[in-house]
Amino acid sequence: MEDAIVLYPSPGRGHLISMVELGKHILKYHPSFSITILILSKPNTNTNSTSPNYVESSTDQYMATVNSTTPSITFHHLPPISKVPPSTSSFLEMNYLIPRLNNQNLHQTLKTISQTSKLRAFIIDFFCDASFEVASNIDIPTYYFFTSGASALALFLYMPTLHKNVDKSFKDLGNMPIDIPGLPPIPASDMPVGILNRNNQLYEYFLNTATHMAKSNGLLANTFESLETKAIVALSNGLCVPDGVTPPIFCIGPLISSSNQDGDAHECLNWLNSQPSRSVVFLCFGSMGLFSAKQLKEMAAGLENSGQRFLWVVRNPPPDKEKEPNLDELLPKGFLERTKDKGFVVKQWAPQVEVLSHESVGGFVTHCGWNSVLEAISVGVPMVAWPLYAEQRLNRVFLVEEMKVALGLKEMEDGLVSAEELEKRVRELFESEVGREVRERVLGFREEAMVAQKEGGSSHVALTKLAQLWKQTQHE
Ligand code: UDP
Repeated sequence: MEDAIVLYPSPGRGHLISMVELGKHILKYHPSFSITILILSKPNTNTNSTSPNYVESSTDQYMATVNSTTPSITFHHLPPISKVPPSTSSFLEMNYLIPRLNNQNLHQTLKTISQTSKLRAFIIDFFCDASFEVASNIDIPTYYFFTSGASALALFLYMPTLHKNVDKSFKDLGNMPIDIPGLPPIPASDMPVGILNRNNQLYEYFLNTATHMAKSNGLLANTFESLETKAIVALSNGLCVPDGVTPPIFCIGPLISSSNQDGDAHECLNWLNSQPSRSVVFLCFGSMGLFSAKQLKEMAAGLENSGQRFLWVVRNPPPDKEKEPNLDELLPKGFLERTKDKGFVVKQWAPQVEVLSHESVGGFVTHCGWNSVLEAISVGVPMVAWPLYAEQRLNRVFLVEEMKVALGLKEMEDGLVSAEELEKRVRELFESEVGREVRERVLGFREEAMVAQKEGGSSHVALTKLAQLWKQTQHE
């Protein structure tokens, strides 16, 4: 019987891509494993606007490309569920609920796979926590793949302790610094969005997940040791879990999504070809970053006034995010014409990994999503941190204060970032001594990321240890 590893990503393209990269990475060094990735089917909701995107056609296309380039990865679609999640659930709650409603299907699928293969490990996304008990009950070694960094992992594992020691919701504590082992003090208002309010259902999900993670067979994090040394030391020394014993931590990153793009180069890459080296600031805000019409106009003014070359991904403000944006309407009058020699605006989606690796790109205004952060670090592009959702405010603290690879952007009280603020930070990144220092730091991390992944490097060693462990695991 072959050795099987089953991966269970939560819905959403970002999570799927990370898991696919994990699968490819395992196969690269340990090709004897078979990798199955479980795909959740879209629930039979009537119309639920908060439902995460399960079957976007681009995701189907993406899986087809993976299938053709890496045939040893198999996608297994779980059957659709009949139960409907409450339509009042938020996007993040849905991410938790859908895997929960699939538990029966999952149980059956794991059993079936176990009949034909030695199931060495079941690796689950943070949001698929409901599957932890299913797998534990049938005695399958279960690991969590944490798609953010070790610092955020330290915080999540420390949640049960914080829950005991802090008696108010973080949202009611303003900027009060929260102490977490291995991390700089985190202002309460910068805690991840899902745990700001302790009376929310989500808070409870996160709390339970933290407890389960601490009982799992191991935790995989998409990071590398020298990037987050203090947090990793705190984790390894058991400082972040109530009983002082953390499951083994495997920092196996940075796992960067490979392009998987077919066909001609995107037109923005052709435009970059004609720009001077390291001259362009790239602005892109993850799979879900959206701005109000007012904010888009401020951004345009800030970019124009900075005099810097730019490549900017623009989407419609909510709720029309899927509709192609009308740039003439959204951007200030004459903006496109005035900036046509210096700027390029892409609608909806740009091939970010390729853009960041292009040698004309010299800076990145990012929403601080962890994949984006790693993608920039891996190619040595310094950042301006503009967090929008999830744990991104937390990431800003690490990027600006610990790693010193980004300049922080300040929002006004109403959350708006002024044109002046954006102009100032972009200029600072490209024109000042502080910007030069940030650039040097990130170039240093780029080298360290490469070393970590080479044979004998920390991430390579971690993956090898993990594979050895799986081979030894006796699960019949
Ligand atoms: N991405 C991209 N083009 C875009 C926006 C996003 O290729 O226009 C990719 C980006 O390279 C990254 C992922 O989408 O791999 C976003 O993941 P991240 O963790 O940064 O943010 P999230 O979308 O999860 O908030």
